[in-house]
Amino acid sequence: MRIRGVFLIAAFVLLFGGYAFALVVAASVPPICSLIAEVGRERVTVVQLIPNGANPHAYEPTPSDVAKAAQAEAFFLVGLGFDTYLEKVIKAAKGEKALILYLHSGLDLLEDRGENHHEEANPHIWLSLRNAQVILETVARNLSSLDPEGANFYRENAKRYAQVLAEIDTWFTQEILSLPSRSFVATHNSLSYLARDYGLFEAGVLEKAPGYEPTPQELAELVTLMREKNVRIVVAEPQFSVKAAQVLAEETQSTLVFFDPLGTFPDTPYHVLMKENLRKLIEAWKGSGNDQPGD
Ligand SMILES: [Zn+2]
Repeated sequence: MRIRGVFLIAAFVLLFGGYAFALVVAASVPPICSLIAEVGRERVTVVQLIPNGANPHAYEPTPSDVAKAAQAEAFFLVGLGFDTYLEKVIKAAKGEKALILYLHSGLDLLEDRGENHHEEANPHIWLSLRNAQVILETVARNLSSLDPEGANFYRENAKRYAQVLAEIDTWFTQEILSLPSRSFVATHNSLSYLARDYGLFEAGVLEKAPGYEPTPQELAELVTLMREKNVRIVVAEPQFSVKAAQVLAEETQSTLVFFDPLGTFPDTPYHVLMKENLRKLIEAWKGSGNDQPGD
């Protein structure tokens, strides 16, 4: 038994000892941290710059964030005006030449229809499973440049996790086929990529820009729109005010669904977060399928 114990310790050191000096990278929001951690696994430590529970649109970096950023060798940001304010923090920590990598590169981007929300395009890129699969490849490629010895490892991990996402993609695609309605009103434009990639109908948004409270007239217009288009679900987000969504759902007797675009890192892996969100949408649509004719 003792010999076996020694062997096990030796094997453990061989397997993991080499990773004692893991590559340290930083990222902004929890789901992006999760995608990087799935690719990097034991070779990479992910430093999270926007804390769990914070609204990234309204987050104010603190001096301790500079200290956190100083640990990292490279930075993965969404970009597109979403977490771009972290560039200041990163440069304060690492100087002007800090290595900042943008995960929207290589994606087919949607225009941002909101007002003054984001600079160029809609930044909520990670909320479509199909975008996430491209993001995995981008992460693997960049980690491989930083740590060439791990290139195969990163590529394999990205492929394996893309497969996990592809299974959820197939499940969701199948589930929504039979739905009588796939339309919704969202809190803000966070679900536009999901809508585009899966043929969902984003009928409108409550907040034209994050933190913007809709006026009574805008609410009334949404009520009319929902009735006209027979939209029966209103999507609320835990990081945003729920009040307007509640009023709208009550006024139109619709289902209020909580969709969490961020989750927590490392407790909620990306695929768990997405599956739960998509399951809630499906259930709400199924529940709202019992419309009385002429309603
Ligand atoms: Zn947003």
